[in-house]
Amino acid sequence: MQAARLHEYTDDMSEALRIDDVDRPELERSDQVLVEVEGAGWCQTDNHIIEGMWADYAPQDLPMTLGHENAGIVAETGEEVTLVEEGDPVICHPVQTCGICRPCRLGEDMYCENSAFNGLTTDGGFAEFLQTNERAVIPLPDGIDPTEIAPHADAGITAYHAAKKAVDELNPGDACVVIGIGGLGHIGLQCLEAMSAADILAVDVKDEALELAEDLGARHTVNSAEEDLADAVADLTDDEGAQQVLDFVGADETTGAAPDIVAAGGDHHIIGYGGHIHEPCQALVDGEFSFKGTLVGQYAELQELVALVDRGDVELRTERYDLADINAVAERLEHNEIEGRAVVTPP
Ligand SMILES: [Zn+2]
Ligand SMILES: [Zn+2]
Repeated sequence: MQAARLHEYTDDMSEALRIDDVDRPELERSDQVLVEVEGAGWCQTDNHIIEGMWADYAPQDLPMTLGHENAGIVAETGEEVTLVEEGDPVICHPVQTCGICRPCRLGEDMYCENSAFNGLTTDGGFAEFLQTNERAVIPLPDGIDPTEIAPHADAGITAYHAAKKAVDELNPGDACVVIGIGGLGHIGLQCLEAMSAADILAVDVKDEALELAEDLGARHTVNSAEEDLADAVADLTDDEGAQQVLDFVGADETTGAAPDIVAAGGDHHIIGYGGHIHEPCQALVDGEFSFKGTLVGQYAELQELVALVDRGDVELRTERYDLADINAVAERLEHNEIEGRAVVTPP
C-alpha cells in the first residue's frame, strides 16, 4: 500500500514526506482494528514533527508514516473486538490506550502509561490502511462522512477539550477571548458557542478569519494587527479582563498579552505552540491567573464532539488533497494558505 513517510527531520516542507510502497499492516493482537483510511487531516503538528520538534518529547523510529487525524471504514478486526465490525465507519482517537493503567482507569487517555500515538510514535493514517485498537475507534452515526470528520480526531478534540475546561469556569455574561480563528480556533469557537453563554471576543490578524468568527457566533472581533488587544479587552470588560482566554496561536506575543487580558483568577489556555512564556512570576501572583496546557483530549470527549457534529452544532471547513500532493499541503500550511482544514484522501 502507499504511505507518506518521514525519513529525516527537515525544515524544507517541499521534501517533507516520501510516498513509499509498504506492506499493509498485519493485525498482531486480538484487540486490534485495521481501518481503511478515507480521510486524514493535516495538522500544524505534522509540520512540527517533520521539523524534529517532537523528537525530545516522543520516541520516534524513522521512517514513520505520519497522520494522526484519521477516519475511515473498518477493514478487519482482531478476534476479541466487539465494538465494531468490518464495514463500519469510524473516527480514530489518535492514541491507542491500554485500558489497564491508572490514568486509563481514570479516563485520562492522554496520560496512558502504555500508549501508542498514531503518526507521532507509531505509523499513522497518511496511508491506505491504519492499524489501531478497539479502545481508539468511535463508530460514526449515520450520515456522517468519515472524510469530512477526520480532522476532529485531533484538531477537533483538542479544541473541544480546551473549550470544555473553559466552559466549566464561564458564567453567562463572562468574557471569553479566542485568539486565532484557524483550523482549531474555528472549531473551539463553535464548541464554546454550543456550550456556554459567555460573550466571545475573536482575535486574529486576518479580516477573513474574523468574518468567519462572526458567522460562527462571535459577538465581538478584534484585528490585533490593527488594534491593541489589551485595550479592546479592557473596553469590552470594563477593565476586568476576560475570565477565560483560549490561545490557539501560542506565540510569544499572545502569551505575553496574558497579564493584560486575563481577569483575576482566570485562565490562559495554551493550545497552539511554538512560542514561549516569559511572564514575571509577580504578574501571575498579582493577577492570580494560570497558564494551562492542552494535550488532545479524552476518548469520551471525542464521543461528545461527534455528538455536537451530529447535532449540527459544529461544522468544519475542509479542503481535500490527494496523498500524492501531501508535501504541497505541508508547504501551504507553512505559508498559512489553508482555509479551514486540509484533509488528505489516500487512494
Ligand atoms: Zn493534529
Ligand atoms: Zn493505559
